[in-house]
Amino acid sequence: MFVLIRYMEKRDIIIAIDGHSSTGKSTFAKEIASRYGMIYVDTGALYRGVTLFALRNGLINGTGVENPEKLYNLLQNVSLRFGQAAPGGKSELFLNGENIETQIRSLEVAGKVSIIAALKPVRDFVDFKLKEFGVTGGVVMDGRDIGTVVFPDADLKIFMTADPKVRAMRRYREMVTRGEDADFDDVLRNVIERDFMDENRENAPLRKAQDAVFLDNSNMTEEDQMVWIEKIISEKWKSLKKN
Ligand code: C5P
Repeated sequence: MFVLIRYMEKRDIIIAIDGHSSTGKSTFAKEIASRYGMIYVDTGALYRGVTLFALRNGLINGTGVENPEKLYNLLQNVSLRFGQAAPGGKSELFLNGENIETQIRSLEVAGKVSIIAALKPVRDFVDFKLKEFGVTGGVVMDGRDIGTVVFPDADLKIFMTADPKVRAMRRYREMVTRGEDADFDDVLRNVIERDFMDENRENAPLRKAQDAVFLDNSNMTEEDQMVWIEKIISEKWKSLKKN
């Protein structure tokens, strides 16, 4: 009964941002959340966290996961949650209490994450966590299937893309800034491979939702994007007020 009542309550808005790898979805989503007092949820981080867990437990071989059921069963006893390393700090991912934010951004994890994210049991595990955020709303989520599968009734949907070389260069620069020994061609290959796997998998493939607004940010700065979205949000808010 309690759950039913909770679901029937009016919830705050949900903004779903989907799109290709390394389009700057998370930076964009974080900024929107901060300007509009919403919570930001990085759904890719959860898939990366599951991938790190699978790698550490030797469940991934050269081509994929030998035993997806074993992975699913092990996940039932895993704590994967967002938290803050210090009070008031940014949201980071914790696996069984360990801060894994840096490890999940490695090229090793990036190289396997789309294989892991294609598995139905893994998607079920992550979707269950994501749907909890939807009960109250007030969230901006970025991912690949938020507007199509996780929250098909999201209040605003955005689909982001950019030229693959532009995306790879952004990711490469981030890695170099972090002091990692990155190779541009490896990063570009990873971006293209992930797009291909995300778009062609059987479970929740990456697609633009019909009602999503399209954003190609190849030639846009972060501030250009904020001007663009603020116009959309204010227009939408006006139309909501009119109803
Ligand atoms: O967004 P990010 O690049 O961190 O996501 C890592 C990977 O997780 C993606 O390449 C994709 O394979 C997977 N993913 C997904 N569905 C989501 C978010 C991420 O399949 N909603």
